[in-house]
Amino acid sequence: SERFAQFKLVLLGESAVGKSSLVNRFAKDRFDEFRQSTIGAAFLTQSVRLEPDTVIKFEIWDTAGQERYKSLAPMYYRNANCAVVVFDLTSSTSLGRAKSWVKELQLQASDNIVIALAANKADLTSKRQVDREEAAEYAREAGLLYFETSAKTGESVKEMFKAIAERMPIE
Ligand code: GDP
Ligand code: MG
Repeated sequence: SERFAQFKLVLLGESAVGKSSLVNRFAKDRFDEFRQSTIGAAFLTQSVRLEPDTVIKFEIWDTAGQERYKSLAPMYYRNANCAVVVFDLTSSTSLGRAKSWVKELQLQASDNIVIALAANKADLTSKRQVDREEAAEYAREAGLLYFETSAKTGESVKEMFKAIAERMPIE
């Protein structure tokens, strides 16, 4: 018989780092170059199958990154089982913003929340501003999963959500 469990996942990160694009890649296996920016938050679901017989369904809250929506974020992360904090590896300031989201989650969200740090836009190699070793070392120290992703090419997107699924508590 199959085991099934669902978990709440929240995406956080500065505006335009690719949160909605990552969710779109994961849930629909698509990338649209000209997506509208998210207003408030968007809700999607997608499941991951873990061998041999487990299905993990994610209920995903894709938040807007703009400062004016910042006060809404606690509504989305409060009961979250997991979070993907996204930055754009062509922007060092977006890594700074990601670090402050991680701090906020570690202070305010559930004690056992699983957090992944996504260094997105990995396809833009020539514009990279954030060093892989530096970001991975920060993630290790902060106890985060770390993936360099591209919503555009799909690089490491499924792998990241699967790694999160594997860390969810299931009986
Ligand atoms: P959000 O505000 O964090 O939800 O960001 P969006 O998903 O709306 O993406 C912002 C912009 O970055 C859009 O123009 C996307 O097409 C682009 N983008 C998102 N992910 C990637 C990626 O992995 N590679 C590249 N080259 N562009 C991306
Ligand atoms: Mg968005």
